[in-house]
Amino acid sequence: MSQKIYLVSACLIGINCRYNGGSSRIPELESLVDSGRMIPICPEVLGGLSTPRKACEIVSQDDGSPKVVTKDGIDCSQEFLIGAQKVLKICKVCDVDKVILKANSPSCGCGLIYDGTFSGKLREGNGLTSQLLIENGIEVYNENNWSSSDFI
Ligand code: SF4
Repeated sequence: MSQKIYLVSACLIGINCRYNGGSSRIPELESLVDSGRMIPICPEVLGGLSTPRKACEIVSQDDGSPKVVTKDGIDCSQEFLIGAQKVLKICKVCDVDKVILKANSPSCGCGLIYDGTFSGKLREGNGLTSQLLIENGIEVYNENNWSSSDFI
């Protein structure tokens, strides 16, 4: 049986792809990448956004569908959707069934995301990439709730 491959948010392993040009490095995750079993991905960069870039949050439209906007109202939904679809494609090609994605992000967050007011408040919900992966049966963990025993 071939070894399982997993995906991890690139910013969690020290790649400076966050909106502010920084990372959110977790050393324990870096060592999993070094073992060759974790592939780093950044949905927002895969979707065509540059680094640094304006921070985005998810707001609900009248029909309930999510829209991803900057604080000054620029609609980035298309880039976020393209990034999510590319991550799903990588999961399918590499037979990935578990990922570790950055908490609270409008792409990678799972369970809680920023509430769309750019005030630092969180609300229940998933980022666009996490949502798409969950809809396709992929387990989404974050840097706070993953366990090495889940990623053997
Ligand atoms: Fe990190 Fe995900 Fe944001 Fe990319 S999109 S910087 S991987 S949280």
